[in-house]
Amino acid sequence: MSRHFRQSRLVIASHNAGKVREIGELLAPFGVEVVSAGALGLPEPEETGATFVANAELKAHAAAKAANLPALADDSGLAVDGLGGDPGIYSARWAGPAKDFAAAMALVNDKLGASPDRAARFVCALALAWPDGHCETFEGVVDGDLVWPPRGSAGFGYDPMFQPRGHAITFGEMDPGKKHEISHRADAFRKLVAACFK
Ligand code: IMP
Repeated sequence: MSRHFRQSRLVIASHNAGKVREIGELLAPFGVEVVSAGALGLPEPEETGATFVANAELKAHAAAKAANLPALADDSGLAVDGLGGDPGIYSARWAGPAKDFAAAMALVNDKLGASPDRAARFVCALALAWPDGHCETFEGVVDGDLVWPPRGSAGFGYDPMFQPRGHAITFGEMDPGKKHEISHRADAFRKLVAACFK
């Protein structure tokens, strides 16, 4: 049995404004007030885990303990088949300290070279931790193909080069509401909501 979330306030253990906004929108229907780790001035723990799940759990535990409130952490990234799963847990780091995702997308495309295998997936691990140390973790994916050049300016990160399978437009061209329905984060959220919010 999963533990149910019964409080009204939840810390989002992320300093990434794009993610905090998306998570807030996804949780709005459940009347949960979200507050970001950034707004609370919580330190950003080092992401030393070897997997998306390990990093999400580490961030959720750190925020729950520091804020003495339940905390939800997301660890996500782009896994490219032709690059053996890279950039994977290093997706943010490939953009460098300037968070230059135009450069990160170019790096992915350059490394793929002429490879005909353009398959990739976004992966999202969500960990919900309580101050007493209990944690529930869920993983979601969306499969797609990488396009070049990037298209569209919606979303964030690698969205403009990612075309979800079965669609003719990239996440960068997609209405945010539609992306929320089919994204890796939405998939992980459905699992989280079914287990902890219903
Ligand atoms: P994290 O903060 O370590 O989870 O880094 C996740 C990184 O993966 C982000 O900075 C983005 O580069 C990438 N990423 C995760 N989710 C998405 C998405 O929905 N669209 C585009 N890029 C994403």
